[in-house]
Amino acid sequence: MNRGIYISPVGMVGDETITVMARFVSEMFGFEVVRHTSFPEPDFAYDARRGQFSSTLILKNLAKVCPSGAVKFLAVTEADIFIPMVTFVFGQAQLSGKVALVSLARLSQEYYGLAENSDIKIRRARKEVAHELGHTFGLVHCRDRSCIMSLSTEILQVDVKSEDFCPGCWAMLSEELAAQKVVGRKGHLETQKKFVEARR
Ligand SMILES: [Zn+2]
Ligand SMILES: [Zn+2]
Repeated sequence: MNRGIYISPVGMVGDETITVMARFVSEMFGFEVVRHTSFPEPDFAYDARRGQFSSTLILKNLAKVCPSGAVKFLAVTEADIFIPMVTFVFGQAQLSGKVALVSLARLSQEYYGLAENSDIKIRRARKEVAHELGHTFGLVHCRDRSCIMSLSTEILQVDVKSEDFCPGCWAMLSEELAAQKVVGRKGHLETQKKFVEARR
């Protein structure tokens, strides 16, 4: 079976969004990205009281169907997801595990009563996808507000951060990637080379 990062829509997600995310993930993390099965709307995880979907339940379910060849398994959904104690989450992932989930529900301008702008939505989605995958590679939240691994609890925080890992997070990620014999984003080849060399 193919060894790579698998990506699946959960419920209705635009084809173009999945394609753009797949390309971005492949460039960022250096793995081949495999477009995997689409899953139905996660009705089993619906919480009628909150009118939202339990992120933890969806993640649990995804872990059960994670393809054996997948290095990581990324699911993207339009469902509005939550974990207990907070209003919502943009995504959730298993720390140093395989499965990551990103919700697009609150990444659109429309959600905030503004005119829809697909470029903005895609940009935000790229950040959240890299953030959640970062967790699966063992990265925790970063205090650098411009780092992609900084925690976002509101949309402004997503917009403020860059589409990149800070040098510290990159170094940790590079080590993980090197251990899996892949090289991440082109711009960071030098950092990674140095890191791999330093390990020898
Ligand atoms: Zn996080
Ligand atoms: Zn960082």
